[in-house]
Amino acid sequence: MTTWYDEVLYTKWYDKGYAQRFQIDRVLFEDKSEHQDVLVFENAMYGRVLAIDGIIQTTEHDEFAYHEMMVHVPILAHGNASKVLIIGGGDGGIMREALRHPNVSLCHMVDIDDMVVEISKKYLPSLSDGVFDNPRGKVIIDDGCKFVKETTEKYDVVIVDSTDPLGPGAVLFTEEFYNDCRSCMSPGGIMVTQSGVPFAQPDEFPTTVARLGKIFKDSTVYLASVPTYACGLMALGWSSDDAKHRDVALATLEERFKKAGFKSRYYTPAIHKAAFALPAWMNDALKK
Ligand code: SAM
Repeated sequence: MTTWYDEVLYTKWYDKGYAQRFQIDRVLFEDKSEHQDVLVFENAMYGRVLAIDGIIQTTEHDEFAYHEMMVHVPILAHGNASKVLIIGGGDGGIMREALRHPNVSLCHMVDIDDMVVEISKKYLPSLSDGVFDNPRGKVIIDDGCKFVKETTEKYDVVIVDSTDPLGPGAVLFTEEFYNDCRSCMSPGGIMVTQSGVPFAQPDEFPTTVARLGKIFKDSTVYLASVPTYACGLMALGWSSDDAKHRDVALATLEERFKKAGFKSRYYTPAIHKAAFALPAWMNDALKK
């Protein structure tokens, strides 16, 4: 008997009867931590899949698209990033990509749920790919909202790889949190945030950009195609007090990417530049 996983997609239209369905070939882990429901299962098309509170977080077969675009766009735009802070990111994919950059000397990953970290290590080892043993990395189990309020560290890049604005992730979409993130960023730092799938969650990206715009001199979203984030392109929030970071010349990005010396599967300097070109309806939504 075939069993299916229906993703309870967090969308403005969910009550109009849309869901994304994965055949469950094998359940590898299912439990409830003090914060979230955590599930890992196997699917023929996507490999091993991590779901939290009914929402797909990441899959073995398409995670590279999201993790590369969340990490290499800010770090290569910055050009001199040494300290990186990840809020969330419990599966380790963001930290794996951040530590590919030889100039990144320190990467702190602050996730609220050690069950996600431990389960990802055990059942999704390709995501962290050993990065949790990298001496430049450090995993801190804490609420990201609390951490950014208390830390005295200054980071060049902050990457908010959170769940959706529900449950423990909700605080990571507030003005207060963004303000506290800015306080722990070095001058000219860049922050990127998981900002939902515009077609399914049309209110999320304009709300996030408006909130970021009150705190940073430059804010927008850029786009990535991640198949399991259903309903089209995924928006990634972008903010910095240095507007020049958003407009680095292609030749400069090519030079920096070459110097970083690693191979990517999704990121290219050309895609980096193109990712900031938004469809007309999204530009209109941001102007409102
Ligand atoms: N890439 C996925 C996406 O775009 O939805 C997110 C993946 S990652 C697994 C999301 C992480 O956010 C989870 O590990 C969860 O524990 C963490 N998280 C949720 N709320 C948090 C909070 N308040 N502070 C720190 N981490 C949090």
